[in-house]
Amino acid sequence: MSDYQSIMLLLFFIFPVMYMIDTALVIIRRNAKHIENRLAFLTICLLASMIFFQYLEQLLSAEYALNISAYMVYPASIAAVSMSVLLHLTATNSYHRLSRWSTIGIAFIPFIMYFLLLAIRGREYLLEGVRVEGFWKQIEVAPAMTVIYGFLVMYSLLNVAICLIAHYKANNSVDRKRFMVLFKANLFYQLATIGVLIVYTAFSPYVYISDSVIFLTTIIWSISLRVYMKNDFLPSTSKKYELLYHFSPTAIIMIDKNMIMKEVNPGALRILGFEKEEELENRSLSEFIVMNERKDMEEAFAASFPKDAWRNRELTIVNRKGQKRAILADTEMMAEGKDWFLLMVIRDITQQQEESRLIHFLAHHDTLTKLPNRYHFNRELEASLKAVKSSKALLGVMLIDLDRFKLINDTLGHQFGDQALIDVAQRLRQNVDHRHLLARLGGDEFIILIKEAEEYDEIVSLAENIHLAFQLPITLQGQDFYLGGSIGISVHPFDDDSSDGLIKRADIAMYNAKHSGGNQYRLYTNEMIALVQRDVKLEKHLRKALKRKEFVLHYQPQINLASGQLIGAEALIRWQSVELGMVHPGEFITLAEQTGLINEIGQWVIAEACQQGKLWQEQGWNDFMLSVNVSSRQFMQPDFVNKVQEILRSSGLEPDRLCLEITESMVVNNLNVARKMLDELVALGIHIAIDDFGTGYSSLSVLRQLPIAIIKIDRSFITDMDAYQGGLSIVKTIVSMGHDLQKQVVAEGVETLDQYEQLKQLGCDKAQGYYYHKPLPLLEFNKLLIAR
Ligand code: C2E
Ligand code: MG
Ligand code: MG
Repeated sequence: MSDYQSIMLLLFFIFPVMYMIDTALVIIRRNAKHIENRLAFLTICLLASMIFFQYLEQLLSAEYALNISAYMVYPASIAAVSMSVLLHLTATNSYHRLSRWSTIGIAFIPFIMYFLLLAIRGREYLLEGVRVEGFWKQIEVAPAMTVIYGFLVMYSLLNVAICLIAHYKANNSVDRKRFMVLFKANLFYQLATIGVLIVYTAFSPYVYISDSVIFLTTIIWSISLRVYMKNDFLPSTSKKYELLYHFSPTAIIMIDKNMIMKEVNPGALRILGFEKEEELENRSLSEFIVMNERKDMEEAFAASFPKDAWRNRELTIVNRKGQKRAILADTEMMAEGKDWFLLMVIRDITQQQEESRLIHFLAHHDTLTKLPNRYHFNRELEASLKAVKSSKALLGVMLIDLDRFKLINDTLGHQFGDQALIDVAQRLRQNVDHRHLLARLGGDEFIILIKEAEEYDEIVSLAENIHLAFQLPITLQGQDFYLGGSIGISVHPFDDDSSDGLIKRADIAMYNAKHSGGNQYRLYTNEMIALVQRDVKLEKHLRKALKRKEFVLHYQPQINLASGQLIGAEALIRWQSVELGMVHPGEFITLAEQTGLINEIGQWVIAEACQQGKLWQEQGWNDFMLSVNVSSRQFMQPDFVNKVQEILRSSGLEPDRLCLEITESMVVNNLNVARKMLDELVALGIHIAIDDFGTGYSSLSVLRQLPIAIIKIDRSFITDMDAYQGGLSIVKTIVSMGHDLQKQVVAEGVETLDQYEQLKQLGCDKAQGYYYHKPLPLLEFNKLLIAR
C-alpha cells in the first residue's frame, strides 16, 4: 500500500470514528445516569469500534480480513443494531407491555443468531471469502449472512414502527414530540440507506466499496442520533426543566410589559380555568384579577417592570369558571431578543388560606355557638382596657350563667343541651351591638364585654335587656323551658383595673345573683366577697354535716282556718353546725343544690320526717299531714320515686299523711318528665303541693294538667294583702281559682290577726305562719301537740 493510499484510508476511517466518539461523549455528558443516554452511548461506541475494525481490516494483509470481519466487524455492527433496538424499546417503555428481559431478548436475537451460526457452522457458513480490488478488501458473504442482513434491515424498520406507535400512544405532548423526533431520525436513516444502495448499484463496479454500505449508513445513523439530540430527544438538564414546566402544579406564565400572556404552562391553564394554550394566547393577565385589586396590581406592575422582581405577592383572581382563587405570585425578568419578558410563577393558596382562616376561626371561636371563645375574649378585653385607660370611658364585663341548664342536659340529653346553648347564644346576640363583644366562656357561661360606655346606665340597661331575654322560654321538643340567667357585672375603673380582676369580680357578682335565687343581675360590690367567702366555708362544712348528724328538723304547725284546728306541719331543715352555729336553709339549700349534696340531705329529710310522722300516727294523731320540701335537683333524680316509696315502706307511714312540696319552676321547666313523676308519686298515695305559688311563671292552666292537691300562696302575697288594695284581690283570685280547680289552698307566712281573718273570709283552707307558731324544734312541737 502506498503512503498516499495509507493516508487516504486513515482519513477515510478515522474522521468518522472521531466524529462518533465525540457524539458518544456529548450524549453521555448530557446525563450519564440516564438509561437512554447510556444505551445511546453504547450504540455509538459499538458503531465507532465497528468502523475502527474495518480500518484494521483494510490496513492489515488479506489473510486476516476474514477473521477480523467475522469476529470484530460483524459482531460490533450487529450488537450496535441490537443496542439501538433496545434503546428504542426502553425509551418507549411506558407505551408497551414488554418486560425488561423480554426487550433485551428481542433486541439481541440477531446477535445471538450470528454467534450460534458462527459456533455451530463455522466462519465459512457466513463468509465465503475475500476479494481484493486494488487496495480494497471486499468480503464475500454467504447466503446465511444475507439472511442476517435481512434481519438487521427488519430491525431498523422495527425501530421506525416502535417510535411511530409510541408517538400515537403517548399521553402527553412532551413524549409525543420526542417520539416524532426519533421517528424522523429513523426515517432519515432509512432513506439515506436506500440512497447509498442506489448510488452503490448505479456506480458499480466503479465504486467498489460494497462492504461499506454498512459503513456509510452507520455514519448516517450516527449523524441522525446527533440530530435528535439537538432536538432534545435524549434526556438532558434542559429536558428536565421542560418536564418541570409541563408537569409542575405551579402555574408559570410569561407575560410582556403590557401583561399580555405569551406562554402558559398546563398549571397556569388549570388555575385560569382553560384547557388549551391557544385560548389564552394574547389575553391580558389583569383580566383575571378581581376588580378591587386590578388597578393596584396594574400600577405596581408598571412601576416594577422591568427592574424589580415580585416576591410572594398576594392576588385574587377569578378564573373562567367563575371560581375565586387566592394566588401568590413571584416574578423574574428575562430578556428574549430585544424585548423584556416577565416569568411569573403562581401558586394557588386558596386552600391554604381557607385552612388558615379556619384555624384562626377555631382558635378564636366556640364551635357550637360560633361565638368568640375565652381566648378571643381575653385578648379583646386586654386591648379594650388599654384603649379605655387613656379615655374617661367606662368598661364593663358582664358574666352570664344559665340557672337551669343542667336540668335540660340531664333530662333531655346533650343534643338538646347543645340546642339550648345555641338558642341562648342567638338571643344574647340580638341584644348586643358593635360596642359589645359577646363570647362563650364554656359550659353554660357567657360573657359580654362592654368596650366603652359613657355612663353607668348604659351597662345597667344592657343587663336589664338581657335579663328580660331570659324571661322568655326556650322551646325544645315542643316544650317550653325557662332557663333563667344569673348575671354579674363588674365595671372598670370602679371595681378593678386588670382584666383578670374584672372577670373575677363579675363572677362574684354573678355568684351573688345565683345565690339570691338566680334569674337576676347584680352589680359587683365589695361586700359580695364576704358572701363568697362564707359560701366557701359553708361548703367545706356542709360536706361533713350529714355524717356528723348536724341536721335537725323543725316543724311549723299548719292550722285549718275554718276550725282553728292543728291539722299538720311543715318539716323545715336546720343545720346546727359546730363551727358556724345555727344555719338556716335559705343559706345552704342553694349551695347544697349546686354541689349536689342536696340529694343526700333531701333523702335524710324525707326519711326523718316520715319516721316522726309514723310516731305521731301511732300516737293517734289522725288526719295529720306532714309536708316536706323537695328541691328541684332532688326531684329530678331518675330514682326519686323509688326512693320515696322505699322510705314510706321502711317507716310504715301511711302515704296519704305525706305531702311533698315542690315549686312551680321545677315542673314548668320540664313539664312532661315532671308530670310522669308526679303521677307516679300520686299513685303511691302521696299528696303534692305547689310551694311559693305565684312567684314562678306557671299559669293555672298548666297546674290543671298536673295531679296537684294543694296550692301554697307565697308569703309575699299574704304580706301584701294589707299593704295595698290590689293585694287582697290577688289572694282572692288565687283562692277562688284554686278552688275552681278543686285544689286546697294554704296561706303561708300569716303574721297578723288581720291576715288571718281576711283569709278565713276568703275561704282559704289552711294557714301557717308566725301568727300561730314559728317552726318549732321537735320537743316543743310535741309539747304543743300534747297541749292541744
Ligand atoms: P318554704 O318551704 O316556703 O318554707 C317557709 C319558710 O317561711 C320557712 O323558712 C319558714 O320559717 C318561713 N315562715 C313561716 N311562717 C313565716 C312567717 O309568718 N313570716 C316569715 N317571715 N317567715 C315565715 P325557712 O325554714 O328558713 O325555710 C326557707 C326555705 O328553705 C323553705 O321555704 C324551703 O323552700 C327551704 N327548705 C326548708 N327546709 C327544707 C328542706 O328540708 N328541704 C328543701 N329542699 N328545702 C327546704
Ligand atoms: Mg315549703
Ligand atoms: Mg313557701
